[in-house]
Amino acid sequence: METTRVACVSCGNKILPDTAARNNGLCGVCERKRAKLAAKAAMDNDILIIRYADEFSTLREMTRDVVRSAFLDLERLCAGECLYGLCIYAYKTVGGPPVFCGSTLAGFAKRESKLRADTELHKMLPNMPVQKIVFTSGKWSPYEWEYEAHRWSDFRAIVDYVENIAPKQDDNSPNELHAMALAAYVASLYDLDQENLFARHRQLSSLVLFCSDCESSDREWYQHASAKFLNPPEFFNIFYNESVVFDAAEEEHNRELLGDECQRRFNTYLQLVGRKSDGG
Ligand SMILES: [Zn+2]
Repeated sequence: METTRVACVSCGNKILPDTAARNNGLCGVCERKRAKLAAKAAMDNDILIIRYADEFSTLREMTRDVVRSAFLDLERLCAGECLYGLCIYAYKTVGGPPVFCGSTLAGFAKRESKLRADTELHKMLPNMPVQKIVFTSGKWSPYEWEYEAHRWSDFRAIVDYVENIAPKQDDNSPNELHAMALAAYVASLYDLDQENLFARHRQLSSLVLFCSDCESSDREWYQHASAKFLNPPEFFNIFYNESVVFDAAEEEHNRELLGDECQRRFNTYLQLVGRKSDGG
């Protein structure tokens, strides 16, 4: 016995009445498309929700206080030397310790001559100009800086705090807590800059502030997004041009990351920065 087929209300293809009844008149293909778009819309709305505003504010303050004292200590150690870069770097795992790194112009000069003489490294990166190697592996690689993980044990309380944040019941994202923490570190550097803590280095050596996320797929966008947020455009441009590895595959990779959920959640939290707190 022949069943009379009906037209899909979206694409017009003939389908079984059962299918139409099950899918509100849609064929299987159109129904899957609709479900996918609905899921994306739900995700887009969810990204705008801030579940950890209190935790963000606490983490921002804690990090600010620890970094302030680490910076003052570092400045004493540098004894008049100019810092050109300061960085907070975190790890992908929530609860991974953020650490604080700094580098002086004199420190970079030392690394530069070493890197220029490092023929083994040049062989490993045959397509990269030596100048680029010097910038990416020396000048803008906080993991190589002379003040790496400065006073790291002071950050233990921050680690403990982040590790003990209880996930909210409606948080189904593996990224929101992490994105919140990444944004809080940026906010803390922003606050210290507003205090004019870095003024001397800003003036004398175009000090660039940024954050990094060690060894994770968030590293590239996080470095650039934080540097863009924290620095005057002309300082950001120096950092961007010198720290980017111009490689087509990498550029493609970066473009993919631009749509990343973690980055979009990070941007949502960053909107809290600069807003004056209530009750003042
Ligand atoms: Zn259809």
